[in-house]
Amino acid sequence: MKFSEFKLHSQIMEGIDAIGYEKPTPVQEQAIPLIMQGHDLIGCAQTGTGKTAAYVLPMLHGIVSDKHRNDTIKALIIAPTRELAVQIDQQLEGFSYYTNLSSVAVYGGGSGTDFEMEKKALKTGAEVIVATPGRLISHLNMGYVKFNELKYLVLDEADRMLDMGFLPDIQKIMSHLPKERQTLLFSATMPREIRGLAKSILHKPEEVNLAVSKPAENVMQVAYLVYDNQKIALIKSLLAGKDLPSVLIFSATKSSVKVIEGELKRLRLNVKAIHSDLEQDERKIVLRQFKNREIQILVATDIVSRGIDIDNISLVINYNVPHDAEDYVHRVGRTARAEKTGVAITFINDKETRDFKKIEELIQSEVRKLPLPEGFGVGPKFEVTRRDNDRGPIRRKGMNDRRRPSGK
Ligand code: AMP
Repeated sequence: MKFSEFKLHSQIMEGIDAIGYEKPTPVQEQAIPLIMQGHDLIGCAQTGTGKTAAYVLPMLHGIVSDKHRNDTIKALIIAPTRELAVQIDQQLEGFSYYTNLSSVAVYGGGSGTDFEMEKKALKTGAEVIVATPGRLISHLNMGYVKFNELKYLVLDEADRMLDMGFLPDIQKIMSHLPKERQTLLFSATMPREIRGLAKSILHKPEEVNLAVSKPAENVMQVAYLVYDNQKIALIKSLLAGKDLPSVLIFSATKSSVKVIEGELKRLRLNVKAIHSDLEQDERKIVLRQFKNREIQILVATDIVSRGIDIDNISLVINYNVPHDAEDYVHRVGRTARAEKTGVAITFINDKETRDFKKIEELIQSEVRKLPLPEGFGVGPKFEVTRRDNDRGPIRRKGMNDRRRPSGK
């Protein structure tokens, strides 16, 4: 899908081009049309999914396209922290660069001068306000903030706001807003309290679900602790005697992808690799063959993994632990699509335990480590060790230390 398909205002499209986004992320694809149609929306999406642009773009489109526009507050975005408010404001500035729209970020902690500047912007009609709850209330209490013409309200990271105890503040802010408005609520999780809040402030909301940082529940995730030189044999052992029509193997670099392809070919397995050295047409052919099940095993790098839109992959093997935890979720998400079940196996070598721990933290669950099959000997241990480059070189006690002056 392309951004042009949303039919956003030309000034907003210029902003998107200047920022360099090429195509919408899934949450944008789903949310932007619904918001443009005027629906209230519950978006279950985390930071990193592109959720900010998912609500900012259609909102800016609505404001800029309004022929009766005047200098009043049209949109209020409430975020739990200063950091998030700043990030949202930066994206707003980027997207509205080619419009004459004004926005202001209102967040606590700044100096008195900041407060005065915020006050001025609020009084003279900044059209979009990004605010943390407490600071906005301080301004509201002074009586000069007028929300009569507000059209859009966004609650971003609503679950975090409730965790931080902002519910009374949010309710107070609500009492200052017109009932007739479009309300958008984004939250990484949907506990009962959020559902309750949504029910009280949204009107017949549509829902978009994109819990990217957790693989589908129906993916069985397991891992093996294994040294690099044991990996090919392990793949062979995992595939032996099993009728697995589609196996996708991920590896970090194109050179390793080529090596794995070669090794598996030598085992007479039906395998092909896909990486950035292949021409676009060649990649398409390989993908089509994999999709049609003419190829059983596809070896790929992460770069191409996000574009692989194939259902029914029965097994995903991570030949190495992806360095970026989000990549793990993307890789694993290639299996068990469309409610089917799938298996994802990750090979963890002796240097990757720390990266794998990070993944487990992100997905908030511990992945079961299976013992290596019989005859493999022992693999590495799952110990999180300090890496040399994390805190400088590990120094050993030795001659150099003894010669060093004591510093007293
Ligand atoms: P968010 O989830 O809104 O915090 O966005 C996460 C990051 O993704 C931000 O750095 C955005 O600038 C970036 N981003 C959002 N949408 C897109 C897109 N369509 N293409 C590329 N990057 C994007």
